[in-house]
Amino acid sequence: MTSLPAVADADLVILGAGCAGLSLAARLARSPSGLRVDVVEPRTDYEDDRSWCFWRPERHDLSELVAHSWAGWRFSGATGQALHHRVAGLRYQYVRGSDFYARARERIDSSARIRTHAGVHATGLVPLGDGPDALVRVETDRGSIIARHVIDTRPRVMPAVLYQSFSGVEIESEHPLPFDQREVGLMDSMATDDGGMHFRYTLPLGRTRALVEWTRFSVSPVPLATLSAELDTELGLLGLAGARVVRREGGILPMGTLGALPEVARGVVFAGNSGGALRAASGYGFLRIQRWARACAESLQRGEPPVGHPAEPWLRRSMDRIFLQAVRADLERGPEYFLALARGVPAAGLVRFLSDAARLTDYARLIASLPTVPFLRQLAPSRSSAARDMVRT
Ligand SMILES: Cc1cc2nc3c(=O)[nH]c(=O)nc-3n(C[C@H](O)[C@H](O)[C@H](O)COP(=O)(O)OP(=O)(O)OC[C@H]3O[C@@H](n4cnc5c(N)ncnc54)[C@H](O)[C@@H]3O)c2cc1C
Repeated sequence: MTSLPAVADADLVILGAGCAGLSLAARLARSPSGLRVDVVEPRTDYEDDRSWCFWRPERHDLSELVAHSWAGWRFSGATGQALHHRVAGLRYQYVRGSDFYARARERIDSSARIRTHAGVHATGLVPLGDGPDALVRVETDRGSIIARHVIDTRPRVMPAVLYQSFSGVEIESEHPLPFDQREVGLMDSMATDDGGMHFRYTLPLGRTRALVEWTRFSVSPVPLATLSAELDTELGLLGLAGARVVRREGGILPMGTLGALPEVARGVVFAGNSGGALRAASGYGFLRIQRWARACAESLQRGEPPVGHPAEPWLRRSMDRIFLQAVRADLERGPEYFLALARGVPAAGLVRFLSDAARLTDYARLIASLPTVPFLRQLAPSRSSAARDMVRT
């Protein structure tokens, strides 16, 4: 007896309704594509677990989600003068995770073509055939879904040149906090110890409210419990030990992932952090995910397959690789390198570099501001796989 060909339950199944999955689903909810979309997500409730920040001019398509913005940002070492940056017409902007989730979920819920499977874990992907129209069976802990296409945003463990591990608290104090309201502490009190390079990230959210994060760049991920204890010490040093903790957030972000993306079945595309969304040199991914979601939704709308994150241009990939390897090779000097960039590259050029919009002159300033020898050393043919294998996304 021949078995009947499988029939797709959905045109697209999105695994994971975090930043990337929700961004795409919310766009598709408003598009006239007519695609049937299923979203699989273990969470049933969303917490305010992310502070998404980025540089943009004041008005843009996400303006209504911006909870706070600042005209300036600051870099400082353990000693010496802080470096204050600002760029006319540009602001550092903050989107609360809870606001982003609420708006995306509202849009998705308003579409009859999108079904959300909350409280469900995807467990596996099984290709059904290998022709151009082959389908994929998505297996979950509540049964399976046959899909034409799959976007997989589930978190993956990824080896990296460096790890950015951080733990933060949003605090409310009875007394005015010791932070300048006009600027963000982007990398404050940069220093090193046995655990690598560390610094403080501060978003002043009012006279008595702020998000304070303790961050480490290191060769292996730092346990969140360690970071939380260090953050408590830092808050104590700032005289903020008694402040009320409103909420917590934290994470471990790979900087410069190593190796290629895993082989996937036809019809499956990785996206979000797992698909190369994070910028190697900074760990920023929010705007890159928004750009990808737009491109992917447009492709689907045209009746074409979904797309992944675009390949990183050669120059940007090379600069990030050289920079990260130089920091990794001598973490002791990490603060010196970051301060050299903040001192030697004009604020607008540094923001363009961090926002994927660097010009040749910005790269030239970047190179000129850094000490030559440690960076030239990274151009030599690599003894480690780290240099060769930075993922080519
Ligand atoms: C605390 C924090 C702050 C950040 N701040 C910034 C910032 O200021 N600026 C910036 O540009 N970037 C920032 N980032 C980096 C990046 O923007 C975020 O990590 C972003 O959330 C990545 O989106 P994502 O969809 O890849 O992952 P996530 O948002 O983590 O989504 C992954 C989803 O997959 C789901 N999932 C897990 N297992 C399964 C399963 N088995 N089946 C189905 N679904 C599953 C998860 O529940 C989750 O909803 C930050 C990251 C963190 C962690």
